[in-house]
Formats: sequence, structure tokens, C-alpha cells
Amino acid sequence: MGRIKSMQGNISCEVCGNNQGQCFEVRLGGEKHVFDSFECAIRALTPHCGYCGCQLTGHGIVLGNTIYCSYQCANDDSVREHEQHVLLRERANL
Ligand SMILES: [Zn+2]
Ligand SMILES: [Zn+2]
Repeated sequence: MGRIKSMQGNISCEVCGNNQGQCFEVRLGGEKHVFDSFECAIRALTPHCGYCGCQLTGHGIVLGNTIYCSYQCANDDSVREHEQHVLLRERANL
């Protein structure tokens, strides 16, 4: 997160509404976000695992258009998808 600069003035965190202490501004894809802590920034900006839904604070694993928290989740999700395809195919054959 290199696009962070310290700000002063009467602004509040968009996650928890705290306006005490130092808030900072994050620009992401042309949108401006204001947070009071990295905890709030992480809560608002981090993607969620496509399988278990947990928040990704690390790199994650990208598979197709989906991001996963671990190889375990990526693997379980592709297995689930594969099973769905099989089910659909079986139904189509009926
Ligand atoms: Zn906050
Ligand atoms: Zn996961």
C-alpha cells in the first residue's frame, strides 16, 4: 500500500467512524477511502476467499477469476465445481 498519505482535519474512518487520532487516505482504482487504522483498511479493502470467505491479508492464490486464501481452498473449490459439472452432465443425460 504505497498510496497512503497522512491527513489532518475533521475526517473520519469510513469503517468504524472514528475521527480521533490520525486518519489516512487510500486511493484505490480512482476511489478515495479514509481509514484510521490498517485494521479498518484491511477490513474494507481486502478480498475474500472464494471458497471459505475469510479475509485475505496475504497474497492469496488466484485461480481463474477467483482468489483463495490457501491451496486447500482452491483445491476444494475446484473439486466442488467439478462435482457440479458432473451432476449437470448426469441430469442432461436423463
Ligand atoms: Zn476505523
Ligand atoms: Zn479460504
